[in-house]
Amino acid sequence: MGLSDWLADYDPSDITIATAASHSSLQIFHGAKKMGFKTLALASGDRDLRYYDAYPLATPDEIWRFEDWSELPKRAEELRERNTIIVPHGSLIEYMGTGAFAAVEVPVYGNRHVLEFESNRDKERAWLEAANITMPKEVSDPKDIVEPVIVKYHGAKGGKGFFIAKNYHEYKRQIQEGEPHTIQEFVMGTRYYLHYFHSRLDNDGFVVHSGLQSDGANQADATPVHGSLEMLSIDRRDESNIDELNRIGSIKELQEAGIDPQFVVTGNIPMVIRESLLPKVFQMGEGVVKESYDRFGGLWGPFCLETIVTPDLEFKVFEISARIVAGTNPFVQGSAYSEMIEPGLSTGVRIAKDILKGAKEGKLDVICT
Ligand code: AMP
Repeated sequence: MGLSDWLADYDPSDITIATAASHSSLQIFHGAKKMGFKTLALASGDRDLRYYDAYPLATPDEIWRFEDWSELPKRAEELRERNTIIVPHGSLIEYMGTGAFAAVEVPVYGNRHVLEFESNRDKERAWLEAANITMPKEVSDPKDIVEPVIVKYHGAKGGKGFFIAKNYHEYKRQIQEGEPHTIQEFVMGTRYYLHYFHSRLDNDGFVVHSGLQSDGANQADATPVHGSLEMLSIDRRDESNIDELNRIGSIKELQEAGIDPQFVVTGNIPMVIRESLLPKVFQMGEGVVKESYDRFGGLWGPFCLETIVTPDLEFKVFEISARIVAGTNPFVQGSAYSEMIEPGLSTGVRIAKDILKGAKEGKLDVICT
C-alpha cells in the first residue's frame, strides 16, 4: 500500500485537511475553510484549545486528542476514510519525530522526504551551496574563534540555548560540555525570513526552469519547466531576549553582569525588502527548488529561506525550512507581496488552493507523498 492506493479510494470532493493544533494551524484551517475543505485538528494530552473558539473562521470542524503522538500512525486508516491530507508544520514534525512522520500512512501535502534534508545540517549545507547560496562560515575548532560566532546545539528548537562568543574563552564559559553543536560565523546584518511557495501544478507567473546558469540566474529558454515560484511574504522573528536587550544596556555590559543573550522565538514582525534585492530573492528560491529536484525529487508547497543581508547587500542564508513557517502568520489577510498576486492570499489559502486544484484535476498524487 502506498500513496496511489490510498488516493484511489479518496473522494476528491470531500477532503479533510488535518494538522497539529499549534504553530500555524489557525492560518492553515482558515485557508482550508475558505476553500471549502473540512478541517481536523490533532492534539496531544489536555492541551487547552479554547483559543480556537475565539476565531470562528479558523475553528477546526473536529479535534482528535491523543495520549501520545505515537497513536497517530495507528489511526491512519480512520484518517484515510475521511479523505485526509496532512499539512505538516514545524511543531507536528517536532512532536512526532522526523522518522515517524515520514512513515505515517496518510497522504501528506508536500514532499515528506525533504524533512530529512532539512533536519540534517550537512545535507542542508550541501543542497544550499549547490544552489549557489552563501551560508555562514563554520568553525570546526573552537580555538580558532577570532570573530563573533553563534553556537547552535543540534536539535535545539526555536533557538533555545544558542549563544554568542567572540573568542575561545567566551565559548568555554558558556558551552554545555558533551552537547553536540555547530559553531557558525555570527553574520552582521539585517534578518529577512523569505516565505516562498512553489506550485507544481501552475506554470504561469515566475516559472521555474530546470536548467539554471552557473551563477544561479534563470536560463529563460531552458526546459522542462518545474512549475511556478511565488514569494508570498517576509517576516522577521522577534527573539527573546536578544531583540530587546538594547533597552537596558549593551550586550557587553549585560554579559559582564551575567546576562547572556538568547534567541528564543516569541513572535513575528511583517517586513518588506528593498526592491533591488528581489531579483536575488527569486534566484535563490529558484536555485533551491531546482536543486531539490536533482537531489531528492523536489521541494514544493511553502518553504522559507532564513537570511541575513550584510551592509554589502549580500544574502547569507543560515537555514531553510522546507514547510510552512510560523512567520507567515502575520499575513492571514495577505501581504504587500501576495496582494499583487491575489487579494487575501495567505500561505494557508495558497496551500488550500493547490490542494483544491490537485483534487479537481486528479493530480493529488503530484502534490502529496
Ligand atoms: P536558527 O535556529 O538557526 O533559525 O537560529 C535562531 C536565531 O539565531 C535566528 O533566528 C537568528 O536570529 C540567529 N542566528 C542564527 N544563525 C545566525 C548567524 N549565522 N548569524 C547571526 N544570527 C544568527
